[in-house]
Amino acid sequence: NVKNDPREAKYLDEWVMKYRLLGMKGRCADYIPALGESNLSDLGVYIISSDGGEIKSGDWEIPFTLQSISKVISFIAACLGRGISYVLERVDVEPTGDAFNSIVRLEMHTPGKPFNPMINAGAITVASLQYGESPEQKLESIYAIIEKMVGKRPTVNEKVFQSEWKTANRNRALAYYLKENGFLESGVEEALEVYLKQCSIEVNTKDIARIGLILSQNGYDPIRKRQVFPKEIAKLIKGLMLTCGMYNASGKFAAFVGIPAKSGVSGGIMASVPARYPQELPCQMGCGIGIYGPAIDEHGNSIAGVELLKHLAKVWDFNSF
Ligand code: GLN
Repeated sequence: NVKNDPREAKYLDEWVMKYRLLGMKGRCADYIPALGESNLSDLGVYIISSDGGEIKSGDWEIPFTLQSISKVISFIAACLGRGISYVLERVDVEPTGDAFNSIVRLEMHTPGKPFNPMINAGAITVASLQYGESPEQKLESIYAIIEKMVGKRPTVNEKVFQSEWKTANRNRALAYYLKENGFLESGVEEALEVYLKQCSIEVNTKDIARIGLILSQNGYDPIRKRQVFPKEIAKLIKGLMLTCGMYNASGKFAAFVGIPAKSGVSGGIMASVPARYPQELPCQMGCGIGIYGPAIDEHGNSIAGVELLKHLAKVWDFNSF
């Protein structure tokens, strides 16, 4: 009975085998040409609980790029570098219900302040706000916090970066619009360089599970036993992940899975499971989950990844509420 021993990796293996088939029906994010080469049937998961317990299954080791999952990290970095109120003067915290790369609300609402840091307009703004003068220094602020959480210096997948840099017409349009309205604190190309490089940082499911775990502990790393960033920032970003983290499917995800999560078009999902009581199951003591399954749905979320998470939330009974 899995209820009695959720760490039995063999159950996880069964579920991964079952859900990986869903990916075959989907498509990769081939609007970024380099991502079009991913293998649709890949599916991997890594779970780390607050007592250090780890379980993993499937293609957990395959490297992939953070894409929109980087929006969580860059928001944390910007809040650390510039302060929460400074950042929130330039980006709001309201969900949109629009596609992640939508441009429509920037013109509909004066003065064009981006609705939240989880959509591209908000994330490009946040990229420009990072501490530092040059794109290199701003990226350093992002790399530094990743290194603290994951324990290794992050690297950018140059092929993915170049591929998106050359085709990022819509992101350029967003950036020009934001610049026109005074929200960017750097030039358009500089903000795009930071944003697209942070999106191209290479990770695996274990790396993002660690970040999810630290978020679940409100910025405290229970493995290394130290506070990595303040609780206030953790609470704020988890609220944003819950309401905006799964793009315009965030409402359904909040209703049916009920935990803060962030997806990326590369097929990654980083989820943060809060501790709950009674703690009959190990993952109820709080855990981070990293998932990779590159076939995405029309919203940009991993098809197999979302279904696997829904299943885990049900059988292991985790939920924020
Ligand atoms: N780099 C991607 C883009 O800007 C990230 C989008 C995403 O993961 N949703 O289009």
